[in-house]
Formats: sequence, C-alpha cells, structure tokens
Amino acid sequence: MPVESIFHRLEALLPKVQKPIQYVGGELNSTVKDWDSADVRWALMYPDAYEVGLPNQGVAILYEILNELPGTLAERTYAVWPDLEALMRAEGVPQFTVDAHRPVRAFDVLGVSFSTELGYTNMLTALDLAGIPLTASDRGDDDPIVLAGGHAAFNPEPIADFLDAAVLGDGEQIAIAISEVVREWKGEGRPGGRDELLMRLAESGGVYVPKFYDVDYHPDGRIKRVAPNRADVPWRVHKHTVMDLDEWPYPKKPLVPLAETVHERFSVEIFRGCTRGCRFCQAGMITRPVRERSITTIGAMVDNGVKESGFNEVGLLSLSSADHSEIGEVAKGLADRYEGTNTSLSLPSTRVDAFNIDLANEFSRNGRRSGLTFAPEGGSERMRKVINKMVTEEDLIRTVTTAYSQGWRQVKLYFMCGLPTEQDEDVLGIADLAKKVIKAGREITGSRDIRCTVSIGGFVPKPHTPFQWAAQADHETVDRRLKALRDSLRGDKQYGKAIGFRYHDGKPSIVEGLLSRGDRRVGAVIRAVWESGGRFDGWSEHFSYERWMAAAEQAGVDVDWYTTREREENEVLPWDHLDAGLDREWLWQDWQEAVSGGEVEDCRWTPCYDCGVCPTMGTEIQIGPTGRKLLPLTVV
Ligand code: SF4
Repeated sequence: MPVESIFHRLEALLPKVQKPIQYVGGELNSTVKDWDSADVRWALMYPDAYEVGLPNQGVAILYEILNELPGTLAERTYAVWPDLEALMRAEGVPQFTVDAHRPVRAFDVLGVSFSTELGYTNMLTALDLAGIPLTASDRGDDDPIVLAGGHAAFNPEPIADFLDAAVLGDGEQIAIAISEVVREWKGEGRPGGRDELLMRLAESGGVYVPKFYDVDYHPDGRIKRVAPNRADVPWRVHKHTVMDLDEWPYPKKPLVPLAETVHERFSVEIFRGCTRGCRFCQAGMITRPVRERSITTIGAMVDNGVKESGFNEVGLLSLSSADHSEIGEVAKGLADRYEGTNTSLSLPSTRVDAFNIDLANEFSRNGRRSGLTFAPEGGSERMRKVINKMVTEEDLIRTVTTAYSQGWRQVKLYFMCGLPTEQDEDVLGIADLAKKVIKAGREITGSRDIRCTVSIGGFVPKPHTPFQWAAQADHETVDRRLKALRDSLRGDKQYGKAIGFRYHDGKPSIVEGLLSRGDRRVGAVIRAVWESGGRFDGWSEHFSYERWMAAAEQAGVDVDWYTTREREENEVLPWDHLDAGLDREWLWQDWQEAVSGGEVEDCRWTPCYDCGVCPTMGTEIQIGPTGRKLLPLTVV
C-alpha cells in the first residue's frame, strides 16, 4: 500500500516558521523511490537541524548505498526547530522525511546517526512527533526498529531504553546486512513479531540489542555485571570495519542543500582511522586501524563529485588529513587539475609541522587564504605529553612563523581545558605560547598585521579511550582557569590586541560527560530533560544546564559520580560489553603511562604496540604509497 505524503498538511504551516525551505526536500541528487518498489524502507535521521545534518557524511553515504540496493529505499529526516514542532503538535502533523514527506512511523527502520550525545533529546522529539512510543518496550509490530549508529553509539547505554538496537563502527556493510535480515523476516510473514526480528539481528553478533542484556549493580551503584538474558546472544558485540575504502567510493552523487548549511562543499574521506594515539581522542581510538583510500580513487571521486554537484569547494576529510601517505601528490594533482577554475580545495589542518604549510600553500593556489588551524591541544609541554600530542613549543612557533612568512595573516590554535592532571599553570601556558607566536610572527614579517585566535574547548573523558577512567574537571575549575587565561591575554598591552580568544564555559561539558560515560540509569535524566522542554542541547541558545541538573535530581542521579569521579581498573564500565577492538589492558596501561609521562608512537611507522584492534577485528593497517599520480583530467 502506498504511503501518503503529508506535504499538503505541512505546506500550510511553512509560512509561519523560520527557514521553511529546510523542510521541502527536492535537493539536487536527492532520491524518491516508489514506495511499493521496496520491501525494506529506512528513514535516516541526523538528530540536529537540516543545516547541520545535511552535510553529514555518514547519513549521505548510507542514503546512497541503501537507495542503490534493489528492493530498498531510504529517505532523510532531520530535527525540526521548536517553532515548527509546536505547529506540528497543534495540527497533528507527524515527523516526516524531507524526500517524499512520508510519515517516519511508516518505515521499517529509523536509523539515527549520533556524532554527539547532545542530540539525544532531539531523537525523543522525533519519536514523539512520529507517534512512535519513546520506550522501546512499549513499541508494537507496526513501529519501526529504532537503530542508533555514529560515534556516540559506542556507548548507547544512556539511551538504551529508547533504542531497539545499535550498531558500532562503519555502516556501509552492516546497513546492507540489516536490510537483508528485515527483508527475509518480512518475506516470511514476520514470524515471532518484533521480538524475533530483533533476535535475528542480535544473533548475528553485529547488532547490539539492549533489551537482550541485563545490568546488575553493586549496592554502591557501580555496575556488577552486564550479561545476555537470552541464549544465542553474544556476550560482546563487535564493531564493523570496512577494509577496502576503494570498494565504497561514496558519496557518488553529493546532496546539494537548498537552505544554507554549515558546510557547502564536496567532501571526500581520504582515509579512515588514526593511530597517532592522542589519548583524549575517541574518534581516533574507535576508528582504528588506518585505512587509506588510494590516490586514484580520491582523484576519480573528486572529479565525479564536482561534476555531479557543481560545488566549487572540495574538502579532503579524515581525522588528520596531512597524514595520508600520498597527501603531497594528492594536493599537487588536484591543485594542478583545478588551476584557473573556480574550484578550490580545503584540508582540515591539524598537524603542526612545516609540511602542513606547504600543503596549505598548494591548496590555496586556487582559492582564498582563509586561515590555518593547528591543534596543539595542551598548553604546556608536560600537558602535551600526558595527552600524547607530541608537539614541542619550538615546532609550533617554527610552523606558525613559516605560515606568517608565506603570507598567512591569521592562525587559529585549538586547545582543551580540564585535561587529566592539569594545573592552572598548564592553562596559563597557552597565553605564553600565543604571545610568543605573535612576537615571532612580527619579527619574521616585520609587520604588526598578524593575528592568532586561541580557541578552547572543555575536555570530556570518553569511552574506549585511555582516559575512560579519568576524573573530569568540575566546571568551576574549568571556568576559573579560563578566566585567568582570558585576563592574561586581554591584560597584555604588547600582544593582547593581536590575540583573539574563544571559549565556552565548562557547564555543557559536564552534561556531555554525564551522557558520554553514563549507564542506563541516565536515561531517566534524558527523558526528564526532554519532558521539561529540552531540545537542541548542542546549541548554546537552547542548552540549559539548570534543566539538566534539575532533571538529574528528579531522577536521583548524582552527576558528580558519573563525571568527576575517577574509576578503578577493575570497575565494570557501562560499555565494556561493546567491543571497539581495543584491548582493555592496553588502554589501562596507556592511562598509567599518561600519568607517568610515557609516550606512544604512531604504529603506521613503528612496530605494532598491540593495542588489540588488528588481531581482534581481523583487520590491518592499510597505507600507501601506491606511487601513482593523478591524471590531469580536463575540467569542463
Ligand atoms: S594492533 Fe598494532 S598495528 Fe593495529 S592499530 Fe593497534 S598498534 Fe597499530
């Protein structure tokens, strides 16, 4: 039976809301398949506004892959802003997809991609607007399977009550596998109902179904044990790793947004994973090992993506793009190819060395010199050792002054505050560093027309990292250190005016910390926040710390216990049954080395140090060089 579009009902509301164009769909390269041509139907959600969600690579990739699959269709849905939410409630308009404006509840699977935990309340809004019960155990056979993915799904325990399932790691292959399981079950006449479908997914070992696991607690609140409550359900659920990125050259037809979005460019992921070993970095740890896309596939993807989308900016994405074994060749090849056209290239710069400046020069040959960003992360040499970010002050000053001498005028330095073992002087060291950067820059250029912006984020210890046991700094400490740093920068008559300072207060980090390392008991807090109006928690204008604290109190959850408490080695962590491949003993040892000043090299260029990922996952590091060159394609 075809499912009706709700657009005629939505259309009447659009003149009354801000940015109505974000809800109309019809973007270049969007897909609307005939409802009856498919027997497996996915609604893919990015739980934030369209302007943030549309450029998301994970959703874009799955959207294409699933729509290419015969008998399968996928449509997108985003969080609606509170103005439209109020009208939808008043008029009884359900959560809809932007592609064909079909009601989300009509789909078989609602896949939600979480880059950050601060999207949890937006998922609840979408479920409620869709008419899907918030709690998984209240759902019936006609409700979609609510499935979480993305980095935050590596600890889905705080939202376990709201989820039917979660998937860890790369989505390409597992999304197809899930589609086949759903197809088979539906084809057989849905035997055993929803429960059997979930059981079939859980038995595969690649899908985590929270309701098939029971959590027992010690009297003091720590977790005693997480164990399957059904036979045939594995004790641990493993992450998925796509080994050959060249076999998955997506997106092939990039979505071109109708409304303004945070990024408007064609992005190609040039490799996945990172083995630099920064101890705070969850993305680096959970995406190991490194798998490079070959220079030839990158070249072909860029060529095709630019033609298909008309974007005039190309971004080369990864966790540390300058580390691709052939990045120099890639940069030169693309810069040559697009010289004289209006297509510009961008590279998120994170590594602090001169090579990065050469690359930046190559990349800016055909575009603007917007600004360079370097991320030393820690303000003192001691701090950078603790986090395993091996950048010396000398390196940083040399690199930044090279940039200034080559014509760059603006440099951004990114740091974190609240890192383990941090003292006031480590944060004040950021001011000294910034002043030295400006001093050296003025000397080398002979000009006062240079600037540097210090940008600071609050550190949140994350699951599956060596800092998963660490105490998070309380927000009073973070705020006090940031204020002292601001005073030191602003009070400096000689250099203060050349240094910009951007920071957020420490409170949102505490909420992120609660959600990142929370267990199932934190679900009651999320629900209470949502019920009291919590929406768009990643947006400072919508975020309310007081609302979160009031909800925690109401739910009897001690926020300090989850955030500022250091864990012991043998404490069962809420995500221990979810396997990111990392060896727990290695993570613990690395945490001990962090405190004692030990460093870890990058296993791309040194012998393997047994973090556990490759043997556990049956994977391996995959890097070039291939020695190939990019063809000088004619640009049309
Ligand atoms: S198992 Fe060895 S080679 Fe593989 S990511 Fe870990 S340290 Fe590197």
